[in-house]
Amino acid sequence: MRAVVVGAGIFGASAAYTLAQAGAEVVVVDREHEGKATLAGAGIVCPWATKQEEPRFLRFYTAGAEFYPGLLEELAEAGIDDCGYRRVGCLVLARDTAGLEAAEARILPRVQGSRTAGEVRRVSEADAREMFPPLAEGYQALRIAGGARVEARTVASALLEAAWRRGAEVRRGLVDLRLAGSGAEALVDGTPVEADVIVVTAGAWANAILGKLGREIAVAPQRGQIAHLRLEGTDTSRWPVLLPQGSHYMLAFDAGRVVAGATRESGAGFDYRLTAAGQAEVLNFALGLAPGLASATHIETRIGFRPHSESLLPMIGGVSGIDNLFVGNGLGAGGLTMGPLAGRLLAQAALGQSPDFDLADYAVAA
Ligand SMILES: Cc1cc2nc3c(=O)[nH]c(=O)nc-3n(C[C@H](O)[C@H](O)[C@H](O)COP(=O)(O)OP(=O)(O)OC[C@H]3O[C@@H](n4cnc5c(N)ncnc54)[C@H](O)[C@@H]3O)c2cc1C
Repeated sequence: MRAVVVGAGIFGASAAYTLAQAGAEVVVVDREHEGKATLAGAGIVCPWATKQEEPRFLRFYTAGAEFYPGLLEELAEAGIDDCGYRRVGCLVLARDTAGLEAAEARILPRVQGSRTAGEVRRVSEADAREMFPPLAEGYQALRIAGGARVEARTVASALLEAAWRRGAEVRRGLVDLRLAGSGAEALVDGTPVEADVIVVTAGAWANAILGKLGREIAVAPQRGQIAHLRLEGTDTSRWPVLLPQGSHYMLAFDAGRVVAGATRESGAGFDYRLTAAGQAEVLNFALGLAPGLASATHIETRIGFRPHSESLLPMIGGVSGIDNLFVGNGLGAGGLTMGPLAGRLLAQAALGQSPDFDLADYAVAA
């Protein structure tokens, strides 16, 4: 089988890896549009803490986190042993006991039977500040030991490299689609490319090419601005992810890098700009939560367009009426958690295999 994968964010990279693993001849083409979500993503993998209650979303979100440890083992066996993934634990923060109890009531049932979530326990204010020294006073926490962070760029390139080692060709270019008989044909920078299946993992840009086939999915870009700070000379490599009770968060990586995110701007389209309001929002949040960061260096603010699906659910599978077309999209704000699993399942569907996870709730409506 010959497969063209359109888009090499975390979704396409994972699909390409599984396709190549199965022996398909794979060509991956990525335009690297400004605002590619995988290059901007924070990297939190802790679905159990979300306030989102939609059961189908939660099922997939948590399955995405459960998929990681096995995937990392596979990649390590293939000689790729650092994806920047670390179980640093997540602290779900609360200002008072009622907040802590509400978090417990939400989280404890979700971690039952999980192989990945690990122990969940209360942490005192003093312990929370010892784990994350710049944290403001007055927070108690619930610690989810198996909460992790991952270097999004690294894991996506690791998946692509694993695909490449199995013979996949990775190209930079822009793909266009057109109808050909009962299927679709892919053109890379204007030149037709032969393919038995076309896998469109084009993130927030998907409708630009699906539109050429008269199709559309319910996905729109949601801009995220996310600040990266550096605390010189501080070992931040084991600091936990901080999850206060809102949509903002903070996490740390090696070499003093602390990341504070993020705006969630629907309606901003593909406007690839740092805005005054966006910068103010993330930096004010960061210094309110962790005043100890006031003298940190502001290294950069990244911008990404999340592929936000109206239903919140990922979309994975074939497109009815177009024989060889498969679409993966809708990872929204949780794509670094769900992407590796979603890519595997999409590839299985394209290969005609029965997927490891029931995809009935995640069909593509295009
Ligand atoms: C600020 C921010 C923070 C986030 N934090 C987290 C987090 O902590 N945890 C988490 O789980 N998730 C997080 N996410 C979500 C996650 O990053 C995304 O859901 C995920 O990266 C989406 O991956 P994707 O592969 O679908 O799309 P993308 O990474 O956007 O990749 C799509 C690719 O397709 C290419 N493409 C599009 N059209 C074409 C074409 N015609 N031809 C060729 N190439 C094309 C684009 O150029 C792009 O490179 C965050 C996102 C943002 C923006």
